[in-house]
This record gives sequence, structure tokens and C-alpha cells, in this order.
Amino acid sequence: MELTSVRGLIVRETPVGEYDKLLTVVTEEMGRITVSGKAIRSLKSKHMPATQLFCYSSFTLRKSRGYYYISDSALIESFYGLRLDLDRLALASYLCDVAAEMAVEGVGDEDLLRLTLNALYALANNKEIPIAQIKAAFELRCAAIEGFLPNLSACDVCGCAPNEAERLYLDVMNGRLLCKNCLRNVKHTEDLIDDGTAHIYLRLTRAIYEAMRYVTEAPPNRFLSFQLAADELPQFGSVCEKYLLNHIEHGFYTLDFYKSIL
Ligand SMILES: [Zn+2]
Repeated sequence: MELTSVRGLIVRETPVGEYDKLLTVVTEEMGRITVSGKAIRSLKSKHMPATQLFCYSSFTLRKSRGYYYISDSALIESFYGLRLDLDRLALASYLCDVAAEMAVEGVGDEDLLRLTLNALYALANNKEIPIAQIKAAFELRCAAIEGFLPNLSACDVCGCAPNEAERLYLDVMNGRLLCKNCLRNVKHTEDLIDDGTAHIYLRLTRAIYEAMRYVTEAPPNRFLSFQLAADELPQFGSVCEKYLLNHIEHGFYTLDFYKSIL
């Protein structure tokens, strides 16, 4: 019998029958895996503590006919604080949905797992950071580590430095920065050759630009350690959400739910 040891975050759970659950787990070693939890919803199950949604746990798994089954489990972190606040719980569901979407089966993605764990930890334990900031920073950083890192170093067309540009815009679909003059030229060219492609340009204030730079360049455990004025946060959130979702190319029910309860 083949046994495998993994550490992973439970990002989805689906009840099956009376006592079973299917778990979607984002692991360090194997990316996204689906684990069949036999009888783990039974109060008598020794696996119950480690197999709840949002738990980060270590597992010994046995593989049989293409499925993983739990042979042993141990809870590492439950993020208990998430369960005390509906906003935080709803946001955690969305972040986990994004992680499940981005993780690839069979391909370990330590950066994605680390990012999601850090965001959940802040959501569960840190009341100082606005949850809108956790959401936005997670979205942008997630896009960056999954290969959609926007080039924020200079205007992509004329190369002018961001601090020299009168205004800055994010070209969402092309992941690049444009200054005011170059945006005007780019739009003019698009009008001449209308090929039906969608274009999204978002104005970035200086503070939002600086926050984006920080989030994409900070060390993994420091990506939330920045401050943005309260009146800048909604626009920052909108930029980060649009950026991620346009690259994923669809929305999420969990995001709709999170927004519906705010
Ligand atoms: Zn330019």
C-alpha cells in the first residue's frame, strides 16, 4: 500500500452520505488534491479535529484506485478566529476558493499555500489590518505569484518613471503601467483598429501605486504590512479584484456572498 505524507490547507469540503466528506486540500508537496474522508463527520472519528474547512493539517494518505484516503491526521492550525465573525468567514471562503482554483493537481505550489495561510492567519488574528486590505493584497499577490505579475516599474510604452508621470494607469489585460500621454495614444490606436478585444484601464493614485509595488515586492510574511488611507482603500480593492478576476476570467459565488453581507 502506498502511503504519502503531506501538509495542506482544507479549502473546500463536500458532505457525502451520512458521515463522509470529500476534501479539497491545497498542499505544499502535490498542489491540489482531493481526499476522501470516510466517516470523518462522525463524532467518534479521530480525524474530525484536523479535517474541518480552513484547517491546516498534516496527513498520511493512502492511495487506492486513484483516490486518497486518510490514514493519519494532525491539526497544525485551525484559524479558529475566522469562525467568530461572518465577514471574516465569508472572505476566508473566497480566498480559499481562489487558492483552490489556482492550485494545480500534482504540482506543489509553496508560495500559493504560504500566501493563503498568511492571509487566513491575519484574518483570524489581526484586528488592526482592515479586511478589505487583506482581500486586496491577497488578490494582487496571488496574481503575481501565479504568473500575472504586472510590470509596475515604468510606463510600458515610453519608459518614463512612475514618479515623473502626471498620471498613472494600469492596463489590466496586458499587466502593464501606462502614463497619461501613452494611454491617450494607445486608446487612439485601439479606436482605429477595433478588433473587439476588451480593454480595461484603471487610474492609479500615487498611494495605490505605492501599495501595489509594496504588495508585489514584500517578503511573503510582510505583504500585509503597509498602510493606506481609508479613502484610498476602496479603489485599491477594486483595482486588485479586477486585476485578479480578469486574469482568472470568471467570478466566484463566494465573492458575491462576501459582498452581499458587507
Ligand atoms: Zn508613457
